[in-house]
Amino acid sequence: MQYRDFGKTGEKVSALGFGCMRLPTRNDFKHSIDEPEAVRIIRNGIDNGINYIDTAFFYHGGKSESLVGKALSDGYRDKVLLATKSPFAGFKFGFEFDKVLNTQLKRLQTDHIDMYLLHAANLKAWKNSALKLDLLSKMEKARAAGKIRYIGFSFHDDYEAFETILNGYDGWDFCQIQYNYVDINNQAGTKGLEAAAAKGLGVIVMEPLLGGKLANPTDNLKAALPEGVSPVQSALDFIWDRPEVSLLLSGMSNAQQVTENLRYADESRIGKLTDEQKLCFVKAKKVFESSAKISCTHCEYCIPCPKKVEIPEIFAQYNKSVQDEAAAKKAYKKIKGDAAKCIGCGKCEEKCPQKLPIRQKLQEADKFFKGE
Ligand code: SF4
Ligand code: SF4
Repeated sequence: MQYRDFGKTGEKVSALGFGCMRLPTRNDFKHSIDEPEAVRIIRNGIDNGINYIDTAFFYHGGKSESLVGKALSDGYRDKVLLATKSPFAGFKFGFEFDKVLNTQLKRLQTDHIDMYLLHAANLKAWKNSALKLDLLSKMEKARAAGKIRYIGFSFHDDYEAFETILNGYDGWDFCQIQYNYVDINNQAGTKGLEAAAAKGLGVIVMEPLLGGKLANPTDNLKAALPEGVSPVQSALDFIWDRPEVSLLLSGMSNAQQVTENLRYADESRIGKLTDEQKLCFVKAKKVFESSAKISCTHCEYCIPCPKKVEIPEIFAQYNKSVQDEAAAKKAYKKIKGDAAKCIGCGKCEEKCPQKLPIRQKLQEADKFFKGE
């Protein structure tokens, strides 16, 4: 495992962090976490050098934190830096901050959280919740009480919003941004990555594979990527190449992904990419953008929908149709909450970190799948 500086904190973090939002699930109605397998793969990651575990209050419908608590029992807690996030955007009153934090400590079976983030910060949540409810003072009080150690935010909005939040508080230790070879000019982008690192923040990269879409590329995209390296390793190398990156998070769902990612992390280096390989990513970005139907990352923030429309699954099949139209059409027929059930209330769009025009795209997908 390679270890890197975490901004100015003095901490050394593994180049690969374990994201706990896509843990292995059972094949049941609720897609509940397969606990023994999830514990096993998390511990395997830690045994092989991962020292950063990331979860959030809402992941897996609120069950991820408890699972992480179990995985980190039996002495594993002391081997890692533990990160979780405050669902602050939904707070109406300041007291909710402490209430939620205490619940998280209980779920995680720990007396402190190492890295505590305002979850999915955007300009609206920053102004209406973080500033209005004075949550940064609450973060500082929690730190003084020993409940959290480092203060950060995860981010989904445009670059201007990123700058506002980054410069809106002097006490940030770190931030977490979406970054991959397709998103260099999207959200915080390369500019945001550089700005955060220049201020001495640790920078965590999420969505390195854009919700898995860069892991299974079309033949065209594969052909554009650097030769002799798997699409996943290429995508991860693109991120690890940057000196500003402290670590990247991979939401690993099975033992094979853990094994492969551990190897990729071990082989990673700052400045590893040649100029020729860097040019491949410029081309790959163009190919991707010309073929993806919708840039949904399958994060599931938009559900539940009041009409039980299965938005992430519909978009997954819509994108899959680029590669295999017949299989995608067959899979769409099996989706109970299909796009036709949407009543256009717009609640999902308020929650989508990618700011996708979900209603419009659902209509488009429905027409496509029904062959209209
Ligand atoms: S707009 Fe449609 S898909 Fe979105 S929450 Fe409303 S009913 Fe559900
Ligand atoms: S539509 Fe938006 S919120 Fe829903 S899964 Fe896709 S990216 Fe996430």
